[in-house]
Amino acid sequence: MHVMLLPCICVLVSLLPGRCFTAPTVTPTGKSSPSTEPQLDLRLATDYLQRFYDLQTEPSGRAKRSSLSFTSKVKDMQIFFGLNVTGSLDSTTLEVMSSPRCGVPDVEEYIHGQGARWDKNVITYSIGRYTRDLPRGTVDSLLESAFGVWARASRLTFVRTNSRSADIVVEFVTSDHGDLYPFDGPRGTLAHAFGPGLGVGGDTHFDDDERWTAGDTGFNLFLVAAHEFGHALGLKHSRNPESLMYPNYKYPRPANLLSREDVANVNALYNPAQARHSYLSRYGSGSQHKPWASGPFFPRPMHNKCDPDVTFDAVSTLGDATFFFKNRYLWIKHNAQDDIKEGPISNFMPKIESSIDAAFWVPRRSTAYLIHESMFWTVRGSLIKGKPRSLGHFGFPAWVQDVDAAVHVVKTGRTLFFMHDIYWSYNENRRVMDFGYPKYISEDFPGINSTINAAVHKEGFIYFFIGPRVYKYDHTQKQVVGIEKANSWLGC
Ligand code: ZN
Ligand code: ZN
Repeated sequence: MHVMLLPCICVLVSLLPGRCFTAPTVTPTGKSSPSTEPQLDLRLATDYLQRFYDLQTEPSGRAKRSSLSFTSKVKDMQIFFGLNVTGSLDSTTLEVMSSPRCGVPDVEEYIHGQGARWDKNVITYSIGRYTRDLPRGTVDSLLESAFGVWARASRLTFVRTNSRSADIVVEFVTSDHGDLYPFDGPRGTLAHAFGPGLGVGGDTHFDDDERWTAGDTGFNLFLVAAHEFGHALGLKHSRNPESLMYPNYKYPRPANLLSREDVANVNALYNPAQARHSYLSRYGSGSQHKPWASGPFFPRPMHNKCDPDVTFDAVSTLGDATFFFKNRYLWIKHNAQDDIKEGPISNFMPKIESSIDAAFWVPRRSTAYLIHESMFWTVRGSLIKGKPRSLGHFGFPAWVQDVDAAVHVVKTGRTLFFMHDIYWSYNENRRVMDFGYPKYISEDFPGINSTINAAVHKEGFIYFFIGPRVYKYDHTQKQVVGIEKANSWLGC
């Protein structure tokens, strides 16, 4: 539903098939009669066309049948699905109308904001309410795989966080769930998603009255999620039954889930330089006139991450991914995926044009802090919040104008800032510097004797990046327990 723009809501409210539904020529009392089936068919069709083909209703809730709009909407639907265009409710048409499908409309001439996109390439998601149909871990991995379908086809990366302010909030809900698009019980509408945008934008809802499965019974969550995430990225429905963005549920699907059209459409939005020559998408040439489509959108990689002497300026987790900063360049390694996203930092975080000296992540706030010289940015979800602020905010003395590395240790609630041979400890709970700092690094971290380039906390250990090596440090035992190549985490 790319429709969540406020001016549209009033129109959409009137389109909703409410409980006081009154189909043309059908009495709401619904007395049984020999013509029950045609009445049910008409009711099904009217409901369907209201939801998906912008069939207008009169103020009374009565569909405007007399104005030919009903027939023309039937024709629109038949054209979309490649059926015989008769304008009448023949059996094939009714069969398609009663197929389980996505809740996003097929036509959207009445919706502006066509081709909305995220203006960044790191997109965060969180999972709110789960279904009880599947174990949580299964839901997590099916959704992750569904994001992976789009990540592999584009330059996008998806990072999971626990924040309600994530770009895409995924939830399993039933019937009325607070967004004007109530679900309809078993079958019918399976799920819907909002196009990119603030607030509800990108959010993806699954009808928990369906039976969600990981296999071929019920509805396959991976398939439906992959389709819905296409909407969450700004894609619309496709008429091509081979496309993942075809509105009706189809199982099984080919192993390469995306059609050429799907791939072209996602790249038309997020990688237009590449998409322009490959396939004329439904978006046509419109995207070429957008400012983001001009210029070198994705320059070629400028750094060889597998150089044996490679060093990093800053390393930080962000959700379940690890970010490696070097000069103005960034590599993102998703913890559970093999592929690595890379490019200029500004590709992923448009406001940041400089290098990053130090970075740390406070999971409890789903917030990352990126430090450049004496300033830092706050990144929540994947959004840069406000303007950069001064390091003095943390309580540093004025002579501290940069730091080498920073790391947040969840267990102690402390963030450690390293500078040359000294370090500070900041209490994130009370938001004050701990008393008695700075201290010498070598005294409190035996074995760490050189300037630290970057530090990150992972699975109970602090990893210190020093030159081309990374030292795995056991904070409790106060000793180095392993040394690796700094780029080994990037698959080198
Ligand atoms: Zn859809
Ligand atoms: Zn919803």
